[in-house]
Amino acid sequence: MKSQQPVARAVQEASVESMNMKLEKILQVQRAAFNASPNPSWHERKSKLVKLGKAIADNEQNFKEVISKDFGNRSFVETTMAELAIVQAGIKHALKHTQKWMRTKKASTAMQFKPAKNIIIPQPLGVVGIISPWNYPLQLAVMPLIGALGAGNRIMLKPSEYTPGFSELLKSVLGEIFLDDEIYVATGGVKVAQAFSALAFDHLLFTGSTNVGRIVAGAAAKNLTPVTLELGGKSPVIVDDSANMKLAISRITNGKTINAGQTCVAPDYLLMPQGRIDDFAQALIKKAEIFYPTFADNPDYTSIIADAHYARLQNLLEDAQAKGATLRVAGTDDSQLLAKQRRIPLTVVTNTTPEMKIMQEEIFGPLLPIVASETLENSMDYIQKRDRPLALYWFGEDKAKRDHVLNNTISGGVSINETAWHVVQEDIPFGGVGPSGMGSYHGEHGFQTFSHMKGVFLQSKFSGGKMLYPPYTDKTQKVLNMMRKFM
Ligand code: NAD
Repeated sequence: MKSQQPVARAVQEASVESMNMKLEKILQVQRAAFNASPNPSWHERKSKLVKLGKAIADNEQNFKEVISKDFGNRSFVETTMAELAIVQAGIKHALKHTQKWMRTKKASTAMQFKPAKNIIIPQPLGVVGIISPWNYPLQLAVMPLIGALGAGNRIMLKPSEYTPGFSELLKSVLGEIFLDDEIYVATGGVKVAQAFSALAFDHLLFTGSTNVGRIVAGAAAKNLTPVTLELGGKSPVIVDDSANMKLAISRITNGKTINAGQTCVAPDYLLMPQGRIDDFAQALIKKAEIFYPTFADNPDYTSIIADAHYARLQNLLEDAQAKGATLRVAGTDDSQLLAKQRRIPLTVVTNTTPEMKIMQEEIFGPLLPIVASETLENSMDYIQKRDRPLALYWFGEDKAKRDHVLNNTISGGVSINETAWHVVQEDIPFGGVGPSGMGSYHGEHGFQTFSHMKGVFLQSKFSGGKMLYPPYTDKTQKVLNMMRKFM
């Protein structure tokens, strides 16, 4: 490889240096602004949320267009459904409830401390950092932003370099309505991301891959910055004999083909008895062909984000085939046209083995392997022996089996008889567990993630505490013994 010219390298290093300084400066400016006003009123928070909602609504068409351009093609309906509608609902929910979440809460007081009182005061943390991925660029940048704004913080946001058009649009839309000391958007590639994650934020929420999550957590640890990590992983689907198969086929196909499978909670693989696999695989392909009569040139079908990701997915298929898997590809599109448009039709992969790469790494595309598993216990054992998934799906009508799965598997979240929709429920927490993430957000859980829940003990002038002061005597011991009866 040709080595870089010293002058070019010096210029690059100088620009990285100046970008680091700029980010550091913005952090200082935001922190100073926060310190000058550390407890914004509901009125101030509300006006920011309203402004955010209006700016997004005013730019709906622009967002649809730039996101589609960044992907090669992203269905406008999917951008509306999975991004615009979700952030508008998130803002609406925050506007309806944040004032209540902000209130000081009474907490109970143990008998031995009465008549003292306990309260919990939710406080903003200060300056929050948000790093977001490309797959739902608007949703995954703005949903954390809503929680952080509602909780009264200043925010620095770093969207993905894979969606440069979107990232620049977001920067300009937010730059028009917010001052740099309120919300600042830092665009750029990995060097910016590294400098960003090294900043001493009061909290950092990262959404992205597990590998990068490890690096980000390491960088944040140097500052003791608390992190919320929203990561990925392989989300399994168990299809029970009691399932309504027609519904299961439609919902699994939809969950796997929306955004061409580039969804953190897309079903990654299915578990079912060998005897059912062929018919089920066939039915999935048929359903995909009904959803998408063609995959190429179809505005409803989303392209793979970049050449490298396209090549990675092709490589997973080649590896599986070389190791004995059977591939069923939906549609009859011309493969060269598909490649030109970076599109991959739903491909169901059967005769899989754990040695195949497709069974080892998160797929993040429209490839769907099926694993033969004869019993529910086998399926649960398969899942439990692997990294804790971000999502788990169970299809069936047998409630006892459903509860057995719910109580004996660990995953970030679950949808029953559905895929993915648990993510957009504002009243339940969204987050992973173990390698699929730590912490959660959405709705009140987001408000709490971005708040310090400060516990305050309000002592009474009638406290009996003085009976425990030194010098310690028999009387002290008696009082202590009596108090311990109430503990
Ligand atoms: P990624 O980890 O490659 O990148 C995410 C962000 O991290 C980007 O903004 C990028 O600039 C930044 N980044 C890259 N290298 C960095 C570094 N060394 N230090 C600091 N930041 C760095 O992920 P991606 O490809 O954008 O997204 C796909 C992954 O994200 C999948 O694994 C998917 O499952 C996961 N994901 C998770 C959720 C969730 O909510 N749990 C949602 C969407 C995507």
